[in-house]
Amino acid sequence: MQDISKSLKISKNSKISKGILERLPSPCWVLEEHLLIRNLEILGHIKEQTGAKILLALKGYSLWKSFDIVSPYLDGCCASGLHEAMLSHETFGKETHSYSPAFTAQNIEQIASISHHLVFNSPAQLDSLISLAKKANPTISIGLRVNPELSLSPVDMYDPCGIYSRLGIISTNIDTLILENIEGLHFHALCEQDSSALELVLESFEDKFGEYLSEMKWVNFGGGHHITRDGYDIEKLIKIISDFKARYPHLDIYLEPGEAIGWETGVLVSTVLDIVHNGIDIAILDTSAEAHMPDTIIMPYRAEVRGASEANQKPHTYRLAGNTCLAGDIMGDYSFDEPLNIGDKVIFEDQMHYTMVKATTFNGIPLPSIAMLRKNGEIAMFREFGYEEFKGRLS
Ligand SMILES: *Cc1c(COP(=O)(O)O)cnc(C)c1O
Repeated sequence: MQDISKSLKISKNSKISKGILERLPSPCWVLEEHLLIRNLEILGHIKEQTGAKILLALKGYSLWKSFDIVSPYLDGCCASGLHEAMLSHETFGKETHSYSPAFTAQNIEQIASISHHLVFNSPAQLDSLISLAKKANPTISIGLRVNPELSLSPVDMYDPCGIYSRLGIISTNIDTLILENIEGLHFHALCEQDSSALELVLESFEDKFGEYLSEMKWVNFGGGHHITRDGYDIEKLIKIISDFKARYPHLDIYLEPGEAIGWETGVLVSTVLDIVHNGIDIAILDTSAEAHMPDTIIMPYRAEVRGASEANQKPHTYRLAGNTCLAGDIMGDYSFDEPLNIGDKVIFEDQMHYTMVKATTFNGIPLPSIAMLRKNGEIAMFREFGYEEFKGRLS
């Protein structure tokens, strides 16, 4: 049996013990309430120090059964379309800011009726939909997404300002007539980045769009701020926002991180179903990289496993693999102090953001259950999934 208490740095604050593991179904995502609160307190501190408003980006974290914990700390959610806007409206109960690369005439009124801010991606969208939106919600604040034209994201897939990006309008396409209809500008340019990256983006944003800011009521700095990561320069973020506020005291400032809310707040617990041998030892788990941790394949990145190291650093190395028939459904090669056995638990760290929101029932594999470990040590079982989720999304 693995001794999970020999854990890595990343899990130093986890309260998931052997006893708790025994009470959980498998596979299961487990949110740890005290870790979520820790992140929220950091975000609350930034709000307090700067007066900026912070929204949760639902794209990265939509675990709505935890929103009674999240919403007291934050100002609302940012939604990318009707369904996320509805989730924000129904479950978060604060501001809803909706932006989509393209809205449709069919649902713009419904989105507008439950949104506080509506951000368009292009002048054409704004022109064709603004009157419908304002009819549905006369007090809605309209904004435009702009592209600050500075690429800092290390990976093209996550660079909203890369070459030919469809996201946000570039400065040379700004038509000053549009500006009469809007109250705010929105940019989103970062991905898992420190405040020094925001500083550079903001410089470029002001350089390209600063002349319009006197006419605006708000600016949204988007997401991608890795605020709750160890080592993120929070003081610098506070200074950047405060300096910006000093330059433009009439503007409300919004940040909309997703990942930073769920960062290192929980795990995916899985179980070894079989161990096969073909040149190496391969543990087949009851979860799936493809279906449950797709960013390990798409991004790609290597998920940390509690108590494990890189291959061959500890005495017993295994390839960890998923239980679908996709050959490439592989989490990676990991080494352990003790041999793995059938029935052992394997815990993937930091599996709260961009996991549940992306998971599928590919190959008929059941979705992991969702649970929360409360501060007081109780387990709240939020959801267990079955055949219906597989059947229900097909016909
Ligand atoms: C993805 C996204 C976010 C959240 O990004 P994180 O990296 O999760 O902080 C915020 N705003 C927009 C417009 C996005 O597309």
